[in-house]
Amino acid sequence: MAIEPQAMPEQDPKTRARNMNEVALGYTPEMAMREASRCMQCPTKPCMQGCPVAIDIPGFLAKAAAGDFEGALAVIRKTSLLPAVCGRVCPQEKQCQKFCTMGKLLKDVDKAVAIGRVERFVADLAREKGIGQGAEVAKPSGAPRRRVAIIGSGPASITCAADCARAGHEVTVFEAFHKAGGVLVYGIPEFRLPKAIVQSEIDALKSLGVKFEMNYVVGRTRKLRDFIDKDGFDAVFIGTGAGLPKFMDIEGENLVGVFSANEYLTRANLMKAYDEGGHDTPFWHGRRVAVLGGGNVAMDASRMALRLGAEKVYLIYRRSEAEMPARCEEIHHAKEEGVEFLVLQNAKRVIGDDQGKVSALECLKYELGEPDASGRRSPVAIPGSEFTLDVDTVVVAVGNMSNPLIPVTTAGLSVNNRGNIVVDPETNMTSIPGVFAGGDIVLGAATVILAMGEGRRAAAGINAYIANKDA
Ligand code: FAD
Ligand code: SF4
Repeated sequence: MAIEPQAMPEQDPKTRARNMNEVALGYTPEMAMREASRCMQCPTKPCMQGCPVAIDIPGFLAKAAAGDFEGALAVIRKTSLLPAVCGRVCPQEKQCQKFCTMGKLLKDVDKAVAIGRVERFVADLAREKGIGQGAEVAKPSGAPRRRVAIIGSGPASITCAADCARAGHEVTVFEAFHKAGGVLVYGIPEFRLPKAIVQSEIDALKSLGVKFEMNYVVGRTRKLRDFIDKDGFDAVFIGTGAGLPKFMDIEGENLVGVFSANEYLTRANLMKAYDEGGHDTPFWHGRRVAVLGGGNVAMDASRMALRLGAEKVYLIYRRSEAEMPARCEEIHHAKEEGVEFLVLQNAKRVIGDDQGKVSALECLKYELGEPDASGRRSPVAIPGSEFTLDVDTVVVAVGNMSNPLIPVTTAGLSVNNRGNIVVDPETNMTSIPGVFAGGDIVLGAATVILAMGEGRRAAAGINAYIANKDA
């Protein structure tokens, strides 16, 4: 307890708000060892109960504290495929660090052992040294190679593809976009997750023999059932995520200058609109931007707006900050960079000029009522509290739903009333034998680590299904 928590070195807020470089600069080896040595090696390992993939946290921290970073990586990699990603984007304060004894003793979750930061350091160092990327490839067993089709290339699919390839199967990933990685490349910005990290994970998959078919929209380019009925695939995994944006359904939402956060971020990240000299992606450079929502997507969109030149960015959220679903770190960073938070307020209508472009946003004030179905206190509008904000751009970040294309074009594929694919909780097999699913398409918009966990369970389901076929 005598060792001070090691703060993460970061770019200065004013400077970073105008560049795309990563905000957090990462620990030095000394800092990583010092932070890891804060772990008290609790015999009951409470932190592990908060980790969706049950990483042996005290195990890897003990190795990191001793300076054995390679050993630490080996411990992490037993259960987690994407530590450099998870170390950066997992909401640790709601997962492992929430349960950490050190945080409890110091009565502050921010003073828990910084598990994610040490994980990030270990993974980055290994990547720089080229350690651990393809090292754990199991040699094919000699049984006839079976073919597995993976639809989508987000974290659920990456994990599923890796585990199927390691089992000796021939794996092909079919991705709608021209770049693999799912939300990790089209949604989460470069300043939070450098794309070179995602690319190195894709390269590691390629080194396992996984093939990629890009610009391939399953349901349009080819129907899912064709993979099994005509193309000779033995199993299929659907990891198509939750990329269908929700809107507010308010007056003026079709005006020029209103965007879904998905479109806004996809243009900025995947299509590299931020690189004005190098890319021709058309982009709406808002001067005064209102972002609606309180999750990670809203934080990313508001911080991206600053980096794309906005003079003023408002983040409008109808509950209080305590109810915001975004990671605490993202909220903190957005505020530091100058995003103005308007909590307990919400958009009522978008106002346009005579050319059909956004000229203002009418908002309403809210107060908190009784808890709703989500367990959070519900927002209640205060009648007569309308006020107007001078904005020229509105970015809607109020949630995403599952894309309906595959369910609609695949007879016999069961979905629930929210459009999520229904799977067997043990194997992740869908209502169609040999077709599995996982990640946001099953859970609804969730997290990277949960998507990975789903991909891993589905791969175990696929490998067992194929083994049964072969028996
Ligand atoms: P996705 O990552 O959505 O990948 C799905 C892939 O399938 C996409 O590449 C898509 O193009 C492809 N696809 C879709 N339909 C088809 C089709 N018909 N044919 C072929 N390919 C198709 N989580 C965190 O844990 N921490 C964070 O900080 C965080 N920040 C986020 C920020 C943003 C902006 C967003 C949008 C999400 C964020 N999330 C975060 C959530 C997290 O990214 C997702 O839960 C996770 O990526 C889901 O993984 P997935 O593999 O299920 O799907
Ligand atoms: Fe270490 Fe915290 Fe886990 Fe205890 S709960 S083993 S202190 S990381």
